Amino acid sequence: MLAADLHVHSLASRCGLHTVLELLAEARRLGLEVLAITDHDEGPGTATRVLSYRFPREWQGVRLLVGLELCIRAGGALKLPSAVKLADLDVCLAGFHPTGRARGDGPERLAADLAAALAGHPYLDVITHPTIRPFPLRPEDAARLAAQAGVALEVNNCALRYGKERREDVLAMLRACQRHGTQVVVSSDTHALPELGQDELARPLLAEAGLDPALWVNSTAERALAFVEARRAAKRAADQAAEPAGAPLTGRR
Ligand SMILES: [Zn+2]
Ligand SMILES: [Zn+2]
Repeated sequence: MLAADLHVHSLASRCGLHTVLELLAEARRLGLEVLAITDHDEGPGTATRVLSYRFPREWQGVRLLVGLELCIRAGGALKLPSAVKLADLDVCLAGFHPTGRARGDGPERLAADLAAALAGHPYLDVITHPTIRPFPLRPEDAARLAAQAGVALEVNNCALRYGKERREDVLAMLRACQRHGTQVVVSSDTHALPELGQDELARPLLAEAGLDPALWVNSTAERALAFVEARRAAKRAADQAAEPAGAPLTGRR
C-alpha cells in the first residue's frame, strides 16, 4: 500500500468511475496520507480548476494534491485544458496514450517527442507508464531524458496488473534509472476504487532491479511532498528564466 498515490483519475476523466469525495473517503479508509487527483486533458478542465481553487488541500486527514495527466502528442505537443494553468497545479503528469498519436510510432520517434515535450514544458513532473504498449520508450531513453529534465519516471501498478506494461520492460527501465540517477514514482493509476493506493506488482520491482531507495520519491508521504515542493521550486526558477521581468505567468508554454 502506498502512502502517497500521485496518479488517480476521478469522474472528470471520462474513464474514471468515482467522485473526488469517494476517492478521498477511500483514501482515508486505507490510510493513504497523500492523494493526487490527476485527470486527463480531455475537455476544458473546469473540474480541475474548481478543485484547485475552491476545495481545501487537506480533507479529513488526507492531503489532496491537484494535477493533470497530459497526453504527449505527435511532435511532443501537449494539449492543455483551457480552464487550467499548469503553474497553478501541484503535480503534472504526462505520458503516451492513443490520443494524438499514430499506432506504430517507433522508439526513436517516441524519444524525440518526449525530449521535445520536456524541453517545451517545464511544468511536467512525472512521465507516466514509460514502457506502455503500443508506445514503449526504450528504457535507456526514458531514464536519460527524465534525469536530464529532473522529472521522475513512473512505475504504474495498473499497467502491470492489466498487462499494458511488461514486467521485464519495467525492470529494464528501473535498472536504467539506477544508472542515470533518475527519480522514480510508484503510482496506482486508479480508475476504479479497488485500485487506489495499490502497489503489489510495482513496488517489488524496485528492489529486484537494485534501485537505490533514495531515488523512490514517494516512498513516504513526507518524501512525496518534498518531491512536489522541489519540483515547484524548479518550475518557479524556469519561469523566472523564461519570462521577462514583470510579465504575468501564463503556464501555457
Ligand atoms: Zn496514462
Ligand atoms: Zn492515468
